[in-house]
Amino acid sequence: MIFLSAPDVGALEQAYVAEALASGWVAPAGPDLDAFERDLADRAGVPHAVALSSGTAALHLGLLALGAGPGTAVIVPTLTFAATANAAVYTGAEPVFVDCDPATGNLDPALLAKALKEHDVSAVVPVDLFGRCADYDAILPICDRYGVPVLEDAAEALGAVYGDRPAGSFGSAAVFSFNGNKIMTTSGGGALLSESKHLVDRCRYLSTQARQPVVHYEHTDVGYNYRLSNVLAALGRAQLKRLGEMIDRRRAIRERYAKLFDGVPGVTLLGADDLGSNCWLTTVVVDPDESGWSARELAASLAGLDIETRPIWKPMHLQPVFAKARSYVTGAAQRLFETGLALPSGSSLGPVDVDRVLTAVQNFLDARQ
Ligand SMILES: *Cc1c(COP(=O)(O)O)cnc(C)c1O
Repeated sequence: MIFLSAPDVGALEQAYVAEALASGWVAPAGPDLDAFERDLADRAGVPHAVALSSGTAALHLGLLALGAGPGTAVIVPTLTFAATANAAVYTGAEPVFVDCDPATGNLDPALLAKALKEHDVSAVVPVDLFGRCADYDAILPICDRYGVPVLEDAAEALGAVYGDRPAGSFGSAAVFSFNGNKIMTTSGGGALLSESKHLVDRCRYLSTQARQPVVHYEHTDVGYNYRLSNVLAALGRAQLKRLGEMIDRRRAIRERYAKLFDGVPGVTLLGADDLGSNCWLTTVVVDPDESGWSARELAASLAGLDIETRPIWKPMHLQPVFAKARSYVTGAAQRLFETGLALPSGSSLGPVDVDRVLTAVQNFLDARQ
């Protein structure tokens, strides 16, 4: 079976984890955790980071620290993974969904402005979809005008850049995910980063059961158990050392797809013009009226050959769980959901695997022409 984005771990990761175990710093905190946080902050060009048990936990704490809660709205792109919206709901805030730019899948700035005007918004959470940064030059000034903080959901975008700035450096705070299918993994984990030491300290405090600094257990806030363990941080340190190489590998795979689909009528690669993308997932968008075949047909053909693909995220405003949520939609996200397909993009795919996928796609195209 060829997977969409399988973990890419090897000898370096084994060595780091073995060393963490041998050091005796098994749980919970330890020197690898501190070092991992410093490495992450350096990579994103921000001064402070806290490593957490998941990207979802990081979104939850970030939203709490920015003031999301009952009686407020949090603006979330409708085209995202459910975790972005769920984190808003955990705080008691109401998610309000905003559609995307059809060319990139990222938050539509004009619609965002409209939603900000009409709601009491505590935070905006732009998502850097599939490793391409949202349009911060447009988004940040709009949010500034309304005095609303931005929490960057860079769960998919570690290592990407926008202009001369790394993903994870935009807004009041930013979030990464190290889930198993992301660009790098701690088997499960996440992080929150910010320019503000106060904000990161607050999240670190909430992530470790909100304990007051006294010997008996004293609590003045409801806390959470959201900290990453030292052993997993060691895995993260090894992965971070290899991040550049893993991004290069994904970019090389994307270039192979770009060459294969070049000139095929009705097919575009979503956001592939962005040289700053980390190329997390390469996604084709297929206009069946032009191509004569659909993304779903290609998916079925590849599935028959044990090659995993996946539609673009089903938009949040179409999810049964959010049926009652307010939303600002143009149909762009729905169309990407219906016509898009993410292709195997993992950096652990060897040359033989990539050739197998490309041959399977080429055979499908030949049969349809
Ligand atoms: C993966 C992902 C998350 C959640 O991260 P976890 O570490 O799996 O909790 C949040 N937002 C987006 C856009 C994601 O892709």
